[in-house]
Amino acid sequence: MKTGTPVRLDGRTIDFSKLIEQPGDSNPGKFSFTDTPPLQNQRSCFLAYTNSDVHDILRTGFDESPMFSGRIEGIGPRYCPSIEDKIDRFSDKDHHQLFVEPEGWNTIEYYLNGFSSSLPDHIQFKALTKIPGFENAKIFRPGYAIEYDYFPPDQLYATLETKLIENLYFAGQINGTTGYEEAASQGLMAGINAHRKINSLPDFILNRSDAYIGVLIDDLITKGVDEPYRMFTSRAEYRILLRQNNADIRLTPKAFKIGMVSNERMEKVSKKINIIDQIIHFLVNESISPERVSSMLNNNNTPPISQKVKLSTLLLRPQININDLINNVDTLSNLLSTFNSSIVNECIEEAEILIKYGGYISKEQNIADKINSLEEIFLNPDMDYFSIKSLSYESREKLSKIKPKTIGQAARISGVSPSDISVLAVYIGR
Ligand SMILES: Cc1cc2nc3c(=O)[nH]c(=O)nc-3n(C[C@H](O)[C@H](O)[C@H](O)COP(=O)(O)OP(=O)(O)OC[C@H]3O[C@@H](n4cnc5c(N)ncnc54)[C@H](O)[C@@H]3O)c2cc1C
Repeated sequence: MKTGTPVRLDGRTIDFSKLIEQPGDSNPGKFSFTDTPPLQNQRSCFLAYTNSDVHDILRTGFDESPMFSGRIEGIGPRYCPSIEDKIDRFSDKDHHQLFVEPEGWNTIEYYLNGFSSSLPDHIQFKALTKIPGFENAKIFRPGYAIEYDYFPPDQLYATLETKLIENLYFAGQINGTTGYEEAASQGLMAGINAHRKINSLPDFILNRSDAYIGVLIDDLITKGVDEPYRMFTSRAEYRILLRQNNADIRLTPKAFKIGMVSNERMEKVSKKINIIDQIIHFLVNESISPERVSSMLNNNNTPPISQKVKLSTLLLRPQININDLINNVDTLSNLLSTFNSSIVNECIEEAEILIKYGGYISKEQNIADKINSLEEIFLNPDMDYFSIKSLSYESREKLSKIKPKTIGQAARISGVSPSDISVLAVYIGR
């Protein structure tokens, strides 16, 4: 496979007045649930656009490009193609959007996202100066690409141990993924499982409804890869359960159970869960009279109520959010002030989500529970699928190759049909 990176630029030589500013989020979220103070200031990114002059110059380098001359044959990441790939594949487009990103607070270096290239540096530089705002740009380093090998990840168990060599674990780009977080999360899981294996402890596997890590590893080992694999939210079927804001609630108890997190950290999450429960309990049980909320309902363009209703019922209205209730219902704001906790805002958000989208969440949870019950039905790793003549030939081949651990995993192998799954279930006596 192959992957590349764009040119790095000297920000002092970019004319930002010709670019379109893209400020960061006004209320940026954090990557993890730590006590790091919220970000106060952010540096802006900027938008720039290529044009047909830029494309014409880049095309003059195609003959010299290892990718176009066939010296590099690897498949690049579909979702971050090089600029030459974009010009080649989308030849009807006369411009492409670029993001001009500062590399950090204490540097003048900029990253030209979208301009990834392995063309000769003189061509990259000449084309760059035709982009408005970059006429006088100086570059620190040109873009480049690399080619690399991987091992087909359907040769791995869900623990990331290789099937062929016991006690050898693979994680990261060697499994055909691309990306820092993809590599880091596999490293974590392979490390945990290697440790557990030498200590004769059971495997630690996250399933598809537990975590994006579960989706990533299950996709790799069940479907294999034919292009660099990136973890996208769209690859997860349980996106309503796998929320960013509930990652700690989903995963801390599991990590605690295997000794990966401290008592203190677990207590913090337990406290959070407890506060969320109290807020939900209050919203579901507290009724409000029409006169106390009539002006708020009117201001939010939603019909009045004629008799007392539960706060949670009002919260189901799309026009009403929890802050409207907090600002208008003293008993609720009084309850929240008793918590006096640095995490109360996270708890309020989660309580609101659980009530507002409760119907969708429980529907998805029910589906996940049903599917997960198939993960409890184990298949013998030495099963001779070729001897089960009522399976389709394709299924026999795929099942023999992947050696799924469970009926659930077998059902996700492409080419294994629902009727093959029924045959398997009957075969193993279920
Ligand atoms: C040019 C480029 C740009 C990229 N840009 C991005 C990006 O913007 N965002 C993103 O998320 N990802 C990006 N990626 C992808 C990301 O960098 C990789 O997918 C990720 O770093 C892979 O991590 P890894 O730990 O699996 O492998 P590596 O980071 O390659 O680590 C493997 C390590 O093993 C060492 N090693 C190899 N053989 C041996 C040996 N025999 N003994 C001991 N050590 C050995 C190597 O020296 C290396 O340190 C980019 C990759 C490239 C090449």
